[in-house]
Amino acid sequence: MNDCIFCKILVGDIPAEIVYEDKDAIAFMDISPVTKGHVLVIPREHYKDVIDVPEEILQKMIVVAKKIAPKIVEAVGADGFNIGINNGKAAGQVVYHLHMHVMPRYEYDNLKMWEGDGYQEGEIKEYGDKIRNYLDIN
Ligand code: AMP
Ligand code: ZN
Repeated sequence: MNDCIFCKILVGDIPAEIVYEDKDAIAFMDISPVTKGHVLVIPREHYKDVIDVPEEILQKMIVVAKKIAPKIVEAVGADGFNIGINNGKAAGQVVYHLHMHVMPRYEYDNLKMWEGDGYQEGEIKEYGDKIRNYLDIN
């Protein structure tokens, strides 16, 4: 945990452009933004991901994102925003201190966050079944 870059930002060992803070979370500018004005929201306590974090802390993060995202949009002259969390290496997580991306979107930014793909015949139900089995809601 002491090697955690975001913990270092929290204690001031690494500089960051902090744009919001409260007792549970801070938000700062992403140094490699997907769009101009991209901000990260992190909890003050170290949790590695969405699985690790207690529900109350995750709730606080989304509340912060809800509070600041529309202000960010206004401040930078954007038209909308995406909120996202990359969970695990396959999903693109690089920093293992849970963080929520708030990414302003501009009408003509041409950013493709993800593109949809199709299912073969019957496959959507097959995947639905797999998930329902694990969620135990059949
Ligand atoms: P993720 O891929 O979801 O783990 O995102 C990590 C994010 O942290 C990336 O968007 C990086 O650009 C950002 N990042 C890494 N180091 C710093 C830093 N020192 N200050 C601000 N943002 C950072
Ligand atoms: Zn950390």
